[in-house]
Amino acid sequence: MAKFEDQSIYIYNSLTGKKELFEPINSPHVGIYVCGPTVYSNVHLGNCRTFLSFDTIIRYLKFLEFKVRYVRNITDAGHLTDDGNVENDRFVKQSRLEKLEPMEIVQKYSIYFHDIMKQFNALPPSIEPTATGHIIEQIEMIQTILQKGLAYESNGSIYFDVQRYMEEGGAYGELSGRDIEELMAGSRDLDGQDEKKNASDFALWKKASPQHIMRWNSPWGEGFPGWHLECSAMGKKYLGNQFDIHGGGMDLKFPHHECEIAQGKAANNCAPVKYWMHGNMLTLNGKRMSKSTGNTLLPDELFSGNNDLMDKAYSPTVVRFFMLQAHYRSVLDFSSDALTAAEKGYKKMMAAFELLGKVEFIEGVVIQSEDKEIRDLCDSCYKEMNDDFNTPKTIALLFELVSKINTYADKKSFGQLSSETFNYLQETFFGMISEVFGLELESTGDSDILDKSIQILIDMRAQAKQERNFEMADQIRDRLLEAGVQLKDGKEGTTFSL
Ligand code: AMP
Ligand code: ZN
Repeated sequence: MAKFEDQSIYIYNSLTGKKELFEPINSPHVGIYVCGPTVYSNVHLGNCRTFLSFDTIIRYLKFLEFKVRYVRNITDAGHLTDDGNVENDRFVKQSRLEKLEPMEIVQKYSIYFHDIMKQFNALPPSIEPTATGHIIEQIEMIQTILQKGLAYESNGSIYFDVQRYMEEGGAYGELSGRDIEELMAGSRDLDGQDEKKNASDFALWKKASPQHIMRWNSPWGEGFPGWHLECSAMGKKYLGNQFDIHGGGMDLKFPHHECEIAQGKAANNCAPVKYWMHGNMLTLNGKRMSKSTGNTLLPDELFSGNNDLMDKAYSPTVVRFFMLQAHYRSVLDFSSDALTAAEKGYKKMMAAFELLGKVEFIEGVVIQSEDKEIRDLCDSCYKEMNDDFNTPKTIALLFELVSKINTYADKKSFGQLSSETFNYLQETFFGMISEVFGLELESTGDSDILDKSIQILIDMRAQAKQERNFEMADQIRDRLLEAGVQLKDGKEGTTFSL
């Protein structure tokens, strides 16, 4: 039996505030652009949540056999905290701090990002363009907007003229719901306040001050592109003037994506995107995880257990599973308890995964009601994923299948299903878990042996300490560290991380 046949997917479109039937512009091709990281520091778990949400969405579309072109950029220039003060250029600032070239900063943190994404088993994008690699395309787009009279030059910088755009029928604020009157009346940025006609105008190009080391030639002198422009230029280049899905975290709705819509419409006379999708935030202690406030946890700190928040290490797969248990549009709070619970659930699910892979199907007497129940549960997994990618409900259904699988295995009687249903069960269960959710089977057998062996050494070290044989205790600790096992002494005894 093939996959569930009804492939009508409904996507919550942030632009309309409604779930809409997904109709790709050129089905079965799907073009999707996700705003990538700004690589001036390590990505934190909050960033990872957004990238993993879109990874699951892309995986599901591929699973349904859509031909996906997935573009995720690297922001390696121009992302300022305001409209142009060099002190606020994150790359310049960080390169001074670390005494490295800005491009060394970019390279260092891009490597970290890629490494973490790989550990999370996230699919790489089809194209990963960088802002600095597309200066020409950005300049061309600015020229088009200037020709249309929707931007103006001021002191070597170019600003988008929001008022003019509105006069010509534009709807700045359509995505974020911001009130344009308020935006126009808003206070001006400290830098460049004399340059802009209106407070709501935003930079397409900024003139570089003499100290600004990230600079490129342009028809308007040396400068650098505005942050919003890079995504418009690269989206257009690789996905066309209008493409299917644009994603990012909710915090990017304004001004970033609002500006992208205005730029796209101004340059190409059409809305750049059909479906805008925004993931919700990962919080820590109830507050948004964010680089600027320092309320963050780094993925590698979590994988190694080397942090003050968690009492043990968690594998990337468990963290991924934890994230999937919340819908991408819901806030998710990070806590040690929630992760421990996720780990338990993950192990239970993967034990059934292993079991279902090992059983041999022997034809038996089919119980019709049972057969139908399994088919309905499998169908429902697709229905939930088709409903704006509802991963928590799909996981709940998979757990119902876990109970069924365990019962059949106990009774050694998968034979009460027709072979067709058994195949459908395998296809759905394996497909959802490994292909769509990207969860990998950790070899629980081996890791159990490893856990137990390390525990024996921890006990022996404790005994050595008790006998005041500190030399031996230290030797155990040091040799374990050499072998890649770090011990951590805490209130509740010694734990370890690999
Ligand atoms: P940045 O590197 O700051 O450009 O952010 C990269 C991505 O991470 C963007 O899509 C942000 O919306 C997203 N992001 C930032 N903080 C969080 C958070 N706490 N939870 C989820 N996504 C986040
Ligand atoms: Zn972007």
